[in-house]
Amino acid sequence: MTTPQQPATFTLDGQTVPFEPGQTIMEAATRAGHHVPHLCWHPELGPSGACRLCTVEVDGRQGAACTTRAADGQVVGNRTPELDGRRRLLLQMLFVEGNHFCPSCEKSGDCLLQAEAYEMGMHGPQWEEFYPHRPVDASHPTMWLDLNRCILCKLCVRASHEKDGKDVFAIGGHGIGVHLVVDSPSGRLGDSSFADTDFAARVCPVGAILPKRRGFAVPIGERRFDAAPVSATPTAVLHGGDDDRS
Ligand code: SF4
Repeated sequence: MTTPQQPATFTLDGQTVPFEPGQTIMEAATRAGHHVPHLCWHPELGPSGACRLCTVEVDGRQGAACTTRAADGQVVGNRTPELDGRRRLLLQMLFVEGNHFCPSCEKSGDCLLQAEAYEMGMHGPQWEEFYPHRPVDASHPTMWLDLNRCILCKLCVRASHEKDGKDVFAIGGHGIGVHLVVDSPSGRLGDSSFADTDFAARVCPVGAILPKRRGFAVPIGERRFDAAPVSATPTAVLHGGDDDRS
């Protein structure tokens, strides 16, 4: 029970987390300094529950932390061995579905997919890689779109819609053929209304949308997840302008 003087709280792995009415478990936990593993959540965008990495156990039932509202007295399990094991499997699947060559990727050390994989203790892909054929779109004057690295998190889709009012991106196709689509007559980024000042230009958690001519401006070894693991990275750094660091 709460009184007007006492904020409503839930417990996250045994630690008390206060929350405000309407907040999700992800919002409250993040604000309290806890890391709930995720790929498709961003504090300035509406939730989508696409990646399922933030699945937690809420009073014995599993649900996405980014879409489940916090409630007084909830008992939430986050970094349990079982949940982290499932997260590791999800990450391994993402790595084999795309073409993620970390040692040669300019996003290495600044990539949320890579950082969450390290966080979950992932040492290898476990399955044989698909090595799909995917295009690199270099048609835009200042930005790259490399679909080899796209994990279909929809962050650029939501950012373009919610923040930029443009709907430059969408998800198309079915099953194994699901892919990112660009809204332009040619389907190329250079023929769309996309601009490097768009919010959507800064939210990609991997190296699929990157600025040109700044590839290794920050040396490997000095990037944000080189400095600290993702669970020890403050939210303001975690979601504060990815394109400044690669
Ligand atoms: S391009 Fe990046 S932000 Fe957009 S869906 Fe793919 S991974 Fe997510």
